[in-house]
Amino acid sequence: MIEKSVWEMTLKNLDKACDFLGLDDGIRSYLREPRRVLEVSIPVIMDNGSVKIFKGYRVQHNTNRGPAKGGIRFSPEVNMDEIKALAMIMTWKCAVVDIPYGGAKGGVACDPQKLSVGELERLTRRYVFEILPLIGPEKDIPAPDVGTNQQIMAWIMDTYSMAQGYSVPGIVTGKPISIGGSLGREGATALGCIYTLHDAVKVLGLNEERFEIVIQGFGNVGWNAARFLYDSGMNIVALSDINGGIYNQNGINPYEVFDFCKESGTVYGFPGTESISNKELFGIDCDILIPAAIENQITEKNAKDIKAKIVAEAANAPTTPEADQILNDRGIFIIPDLLCNAGGVTVSYFEWVQNVQAIFWNEDEVNQKLRAIMDKAFRKVYEFSKQNNLDMRLAANINAVSKVALATEMRGIYP
Ligand code: NAD
Repeated sequence: MIEKSVWEMTLKNLDKACDFLGLDDGIRSYLREPRRVLEVSIPVIMDNGSVKIFKGYRVQHNTNRGPAKGGIRFSPEVNMDEIKALAMIMTWKCAVVDIPYGGAKGGVACDPQKLSVGELERLTRRYVFEILPLIGPEKDIPAPDVGTNQQIMAWIMDTYSMAQGYSVPGIVTGKPISIGGSLGREGATALGCIYTLHDAVKVLGLNEERFEIVIQGFGNVGWNAARFLYDSGMNIVALSDINGGIYNQNGINPYEVFDFCKESGTVYGFPGTESISNKELFGIDCDILIPAAIENQITEKNAKDIKAKIVAEAANAPTTPEADQILNDRGIFIIPDLLCNAGGVTVSYFEWVQNVQAIFWNEDEVNQKLRAIMDKAFRKVYEFSKQNNLDMRLAANINAVSKVALATEMRGIYP
């Protein structure tokens, strides 16, 4: 089962880091297990009057460095193994960028595209009600992920606030600006990814002026990455979403694709481009490949076809361990997910800090602070990888696991 392998893959990465660090069995088993898991049933009155039950999850992997933090995913594939893996990835990601949070993730097994706005709102509110015992601005702070957006974050904030009897903006990040969201949050994951790309291009000594870019996924992360790169003069040669991909060697204007998408609901079939499958997308000639959709997309089947010099993992866990090995052997530089997409949680942290202090920053301040954090994290991971002759993923995992292990050791095990 695909989902199970994401959990196994995450454990494999953890084991490798533990081996390098020489951690004992006690701490290893501690780090392997999520601290809390909650599975809930969500009854929703559908528009036709019937009642449908959805399964929801919230997992807190580790809270030794601070409150749990992680997105909420609405997708038909959501299941406990996937959410456990993504919660663990969040623990490591917050540690890599030195954000004082632990890791969490949540999700509901549903297809948001098949729900009406009313059904989506009722589903969201009931899900929040069911996970109320776990979440809170000092305990566990949700955020957007695949299939969720600002509107859903607003319903989360409102439902939690209603239960408390007063407004609690710090309960969730990725909210609309009008209710306490941060400037720069919407594009933060993509921008963070681009900052790490700049760093990678520099250390690799690449000096083309107009890189050719391929992006899988045209949601929050894929679309924002496409527009930032296009604005800086890069040549976007292929894009895709769940329905398929589009290709034009002469370049694609992502703003026009965005408008097309609003009407058609997909990038697929955008005029003036060749239609391709997601499978074909990975074989396209390019300098930079950005997987920005879901996990397990670069596998041993397609890793040998990839032509890019850099793979920037904007998505979580897009590369299987077998594919990772192939890409490393072929000398393709990977910016691992923990580092590459950490801009989202970093600006989520900024949003929470602004909410707690009730003072807001302008977008330049947000982006400057983001850049400083991303550059520093990239430098630390890259230098460590060079000093120890390790790939970037292992270096990032070691960096993260060592910080969480130290926090665990310092706090001790209660009681
Ligand atoms: P989104 O729901 O806004 O967009 C997801 C995109 O991926 C859509 O275009 C969808 O059609 C496409 N997609 C889904 N399944 C696909 C498949 N099987 N093949 C090809 N395309 C497919 O989600 P998002 O927020 O942009 O998240 C994308 C990735 O980035 C996820 O892995 C997520 O965990 C990760 N991420 C997101 C954030 C954030 O701030 N939103 C932060 C860190 C990491």
